[in-house]
Amino acid sequence: MRGLPKTEITPMFRQYFEIKGKHPDCILFFRLGDFYEMFFEDAETVSPILGLVLTKREAGKDLTAPMCGIPADKSETYIQRLLELGFKVAICEQVEDPALAKGLVKREVVRVYTPGLFVDFQFLKEKEKTYLASLGLGTKKAGLAFLELSCEEFLYTELPIEKLLTEILKREPREILLDTALKETDLVKRVNQSLPQVHLTFLEKEAFRIYQKAYEGISESEEVKAALSGILYYLKLYQPSLAERLGPPLFYFPEEFLYLDENTKRNLELLKNLWDGTEKYSLYWVLDRTKTPMGARLLKEWILYPLREITIIKKRQRGIEFFLENRGLRENLVQGLKSLADLERLGSRLSLRVINPRELAFLRDGLKVLPELKNGLKHALNFIDCPEILREIYEDLSDIEDILGELEGSLVENPPLALKEGGIFKKGYRAEIDELKNLRENSLLFLSQLEAELKAKTGIPTLKIGYNRVFGYYVEVSKGYLRSVPSYFERKQTLVNAERFMVPELKALEEKILSAEERLKNLEYEFFLELREKMAKKAEEIKTSAKALALLDVLIALAEVAEKYKYICPEITEERVLDIEEGRHPVLERLQGEENFIPNSLELKEGDTEVLIITGPNMGGKSTFLRQTAQIVLLAQMGSFVPAKRARVGLFDKIFTRIGAGDELIRGKSTFMVEMSECAQILNNATDRSLVLLDEVGRGTSTFDGMSLAWAITEYLYKKRVFTLLATHYFELTELAKVYPGIKNFHAEVREWQDQVIFLYRILPGSADQSYGIEVARLAGLPEMVLQRAKEILKEAEGKRPRFKQKQLSLFSGDAKSGLFDKIKSIDPDKLSPKEALEFLYQLKKEL
Ligand code: ADP
Repeated sequence: MRGLPKTEITPMFRQYFEIKGKHPDCILFFRLGDFYEMFFEDAETVSPILGLVLTKREAGKDLTAPMCGIPADKSETYIQRLLELGFKVAICEQVEDPALAKGLVKREVVRVYTPGLFVDFQFLKEKEKTYLASLGLGTKKAGLAFLELSCEEFLYTELPIEKLLTEILKREPREILLDTALKETDLVKRVNQSLPQVHLTFLEKEAFRIYQKAYEGISESEEVKAALSGILYYLKLYQPSLAERLGPPLFYFPEEFLYLDENTKRNLELLKNLWDGTEKYSLYWVLDRTKTPMGARLLKEWILYPLREITIIKKRQRGIEFFLENRGLRENLVQGLKSLADLERLGSRLSLRVINPRELAFLRDGLKVLPELKNGLKHALNFIDCPEILREIYEDLSDIEDILGELEGSLVENPPLALKEGGIFKKGYRAEIDELKNLRENSLLFLSQLEAELKAKTGIPTLKIGYNRVFGYYVEVSKGYLRSVPSYFERKQTLVNAERFMVPELKALEEKILSAEERLKNLEYEFFLELREKMAKKAEEIKTSAKALALLDVLIALAEVAEKYKYICPEITEERVLDIEEGRHPVLERLQGEENFIPNSLELKEGDTEVLIITGPNMGGKSTFLRQTAQIVLLAQMGSFVPAKRARVGLFDKIFTRIGAGDELIRGKSTFMVEMSECAQILNNATDRSLVLLDEVGRGTSTFDGMSLAWAITEYLYKKRVFTLLATHYFELTELAKVYPGIKNFHAEVREWQDQVIFLYRILPGSADQSYGIEVARLAGLPEMVLQRAKEILKEAEGKRPRFKQKQLSLFSGDAKSGLFDKIKSIDPDKLSPKEALEFLYQLKKEL
């Protein structure tokens, strides 16, 4: 229902339309008594999603409103579900007491939740950050800003447009703010494809301009300022009180980290597995032995942003090593870490002034173990081998005795969530509160005290204090004593045997008693705001401590992993080398059991071996070998220990993977097209410090095309001096090793036994002699008839094959047709684009 309907409508619906008109893009939760009701389109949209019954309510003359509702005290899960689905939710409350309202109760929108902008614990995943991103796009450069409000993390960077998508996808924002002008662009399509869950919020250009001035000193770049302005605009729109509290943004530079593109992040199953997208069986799943939510979040950050700075990597390694060697100390600290609350988010809620009494008590309880942890670390500082990183952690832990003292002295054990309902403070904290509580609890006592006083004063032994609804408290004197009643007693009611009076002392006490409850609530609320404000001054210290504890948590977790799974400390070097002895796949070895996992070694070295061509049957262990190599590099550059017997890792700048086509197919691109565009990305961006993994390049086209492409691609990478691992079915490619000294053949070893293949999963020097496709197909359960027929065809085909092979060989063994050799000599492969190389190859082939 757009706008106000023409017909006569009820006052409540008039109010509804007014409010809805201000929040047209939100689902409006309209408070009616104990329920939130949704009407019209909102009800129709939401009822099937939330499984709510759609009913009706009369809204005016000839107007019925479709309606559905939820109990207000159970709204959290519903709101969360809507946010996850990308809706915005506006909460409209009754802002006055219905009992006191004259006419229609006043209602207002008190909060708006958007998919990427909320700070409430109940909607947040403990171990996950919820980012809101904002883009400022120029012609070549882009500004990118991220806000994680619940951790008060506000980041930005500037980068070339072609790197933008990767950087956006890395943090998987829940919501992205974009200029409406970008609606139809390719970038938006690709974001949508790669992050189906993301909510794109298009804002007018003005949003990206209006607050640019606020960031004048922070960045020179128009694009960055636009991105930051977008965030501030949105925050002011929906969480204005928080906008004032937001600190300045922090710059980060993606080039400082090991570059991992979206494919690599997915293929290496860093945070999620490829089959069902959950964390189970991901690299993170193996590593996550953290004890605190902030530790878990930091670990994810480490996985996504491995380092390229040797000194920091070594610093982390020393920390892990120390905890490996000092198990007793480690276990002590673990006990402390386990009872820490989410200090990072609690600290942020405190500094944003949104923390409630119960959360403040969580903070208090979390902080209780801090002195103990600090002591434990202090003890470690005396060890001669105490690493620098531990000293830094120790120094970042504040002395929180005063904060703790204040919180322990003020809050009751379990304070309520609500700020205005009282019940927050302990006895003895504030005299005013105690007095009111005293009054509330002892009102009978006070009344009888007053009664005794009045009796004594007047000398009337039958004087009584009573209460009725009409007059409230009164003093009753029986007829016989009426003469003794002082003149200041005000007569109120005459009964048969007695008179009732109003007495000023009693009136004062009555007011005190009746308003005590109300005043107590108000006073507690005021004092809570005061306490929160006072504590908020310490929020920075708490957050710094939380960050230090997160780091401690991750180091200890990685030490536990290293100990439990027998990881070793890799040697990190600036040389161009990757030397892994008996490396293992961190996830597969957990799944299959380490005794069932066959370790494999590998040595890539500048000027010696730079490219490995790995042949062997399907299911032979090639992909596993490729993946484990990349994961070991990544772990090493994170600063972690690695699953191997020994490893030397030269710092890499980027890891690229081209493995499988997977779900891309569903997105409507052909396998081949996807494969080639990924290859183009790799060839254009890999450097002599990159690691490239290619699994089965060139499958999506004819054998000859595919083989030629794979050949040209490998050659190109070799010439660019890129460390490359290529798993392939094209035996022809093993010929490359004869041409180029730095290209070596490896194969996945199998044994044949009674027409069966047995996989040994050992990756050894030399090429495989056949592909065992038919044997593997037998293992997969293909009917025997089909297998036999395939064998026949294979025999026939093999009869023809040597000719092809010979030609390949002769091409490089010198007795090629005259002229061919000269042609090859005449080109400079370094100057050829992949396309030119391919065309050249085609031409050569034609001439054979
Ligand atoms: P390929 O890429 O050669 O087709 P994969 O690497 O996908 O083969 O491996 C297939 C399966 O073989 C894996 O899922 C795993 O169960 C098993 N496997 C692979 N490598 C090893 C190994 N080193 N040790 C034990 N089992 C392995």
